[in-house]
Amino acid sequence: MTEQAGKRQWCANTDSPLRKLVSAIPDVLSTYWLSADGEAHRFLFISEQVQSLLGIAPDILRESADALFAAVHPDDVSAVRASIVESAAALTPWEYQARVKVKAGHYEWFEAHAVPERQGDGSTIWHGQYHNIQCYKDLEHTLREREAESAFQADFQKLIANLSTQFINLGFGTIDQCVTELLKTIGSFFEVDRAYLYEFSPDYRVMDNTHEWCSADVQPLIDDQRNVPTDDFEWWKCKINEMVSGNRVIFVEEIEQIPIGPERTMLEEQGVCSMFCVPVRVRGVVTGFFGVDSIRKRAWREDQADLLIIVSSLLSGALERNRLESELLNQSIRDPLTKLHNRRYLMPRLHEMLSRASRYGEPFALAMFDLDRFKQINDSIGHLGGDNCLRHFADILLEQTREADVVARFGGEEFVVAFSGISPAGVRRIVGRILCAVRNHDFVLEGQVVPLTVSAGVADISELDVVPTWPDPLIRLADDRLYAAKQAGRDCLVDALGVSRI
Ligand code: GH3
Ligand code: MG
Ligand code: MG
Repeated sequence: MTEQAGKRQWCANTDSPLRKLVSAIPDVLSTYWLSADGEAHRFLFISEQVQSLLGIAPDILRESADALFAAVHPDDVSAVRASIVESAAALTPWEYQARVKVKAGHYEWFEAHAVPERQGDGSTIWHGQYHNIQCYKDLEHTLREREAESAFQADFQKLIANLSTQFINLGFGTIDQCVTELLKTIGSFFEVDRAYLYEFSPDYRVMDNTHEWCSADVQPLIDDQRNVPTDDFEWWKCKINEMVSGNRVIFVEEIEQIPIGPERTMLEEQGVCSMFCVPVRVRGVVTGFFGVDSIRKRAWREDQADLLIIVSSLLSGALERNRLESELLNQSIRDPLTKLHNRRYLMPRLHEMLSRASRYGEPFALAMFDLDRFKQINDSIGHLGGDNCLRHFADILLEQTREADVVARFGGEEFVVAFSGISPAGVRRIVGRILCAVRNHDFVLEGQVVPLTVSAGVADISELDVVPTWPDPLIRLADDRLYAAKQAGRDCLVDALGVSRI
């Protein structure tokens, strides 16, 4: 059949049963003609549905198929043309899926099936149909999305399970490493640019960035974010309040949502585009927050906040356990009455300080204190009153010494202070100050002033032939001198120079 003959056959007989049949089919049926040189093409026949589906009049397409090709999605059109050329060359059925602009103005997926037939003049004619497959594509899309969603959920659950196992097996002292590892895992999983943990001071006026993970090429902020006062940030203070009082998640989708002010300027300088911050609670109290930043605009999951809350509760649990462990550890190395370190803590510390002193040739001395006639104090004011005096004495020791000095309750009413880096004269001065402070302190019990004094024995490593590895010889010397101080009448100190009453 030549092009002209085909045209005649289809155009005539508008009342033919075949035409009626065609008009009853919702798909578009067509006969498409392509010249031998591939330059000209038109539809010898195309059913009326093309008008209602694509808004193109069949008459136009009978002149040229260009209008239909113009409706094909720009991303698909060259592949459509190529597939037609291929089908013409090999005379294989033309089957293709492409997006076509429908009458309403948007694109929908169509599938074409047509069988080619070479004509005597070298041109090709395809008889076939165009079928709207948008509903199948939608279904396919939904299924794919659901599949991806289940895979995502399964991955997330696996990740949380792994992280909680890590936290359960957490060895004491490895919490920091584990938290950093968690931030890295979560940051990579959600493809954010930064993941971090901040800790609040008890009054929420200072926040401290304790842990941070950054994706490659993203500038770490942790060094600039240590102990940041929150007082200057009005908007952020409001948000902290929401986290603390309302346990709310802070979500900033775009930085422009934040009112102009110091926090917006800071986030802009940091290049942050959007962020999530989730409160972290330890024993029911918000102690900080966990957050993620994105430096570019991105789509977040609808349940993003819920997922981050799961992560934050994992962190909360780990921090809570860590705090409990440090408290237990603290309890085992501290004296419950005075809160000073106990002997269990003191001995290894003395050993450590002695090795430092020996390695660097630093001065090191030890003073041993014993309250004078404490039995009598107990007898006169009772044991609880005596306890109170012990607490006050511990406070005096802490007041009069430096943070680097180790102050410990050695047992009963005996205390030890270890001084490193101070000359014997310096130590004598400090010990003398302590004796004075005790003598002059009003230990008041039930309105009555209790007179209390203390004696001290001081031993310095420079007095020993060799620096000992263990503190025993130094303790022994200090103890002997303490005894000598008692013998000398109490309320005095004894060191290498003998008795001093200050
Ligand atoms: P001295 O001047 O020779 O040291 O006389 P002293 O009475 O202090 O004698 P000693 O050091 O031998 O007595 C220590 C007393 O300290 C005995 C004990 O009842 C009392 N003591 C020890 N531990 C505590 C305590 O935890 N609380 C109270 N209240 N008293 C304690
Ligand atoms: Mg004693
Ligand atoms: Mg005593």
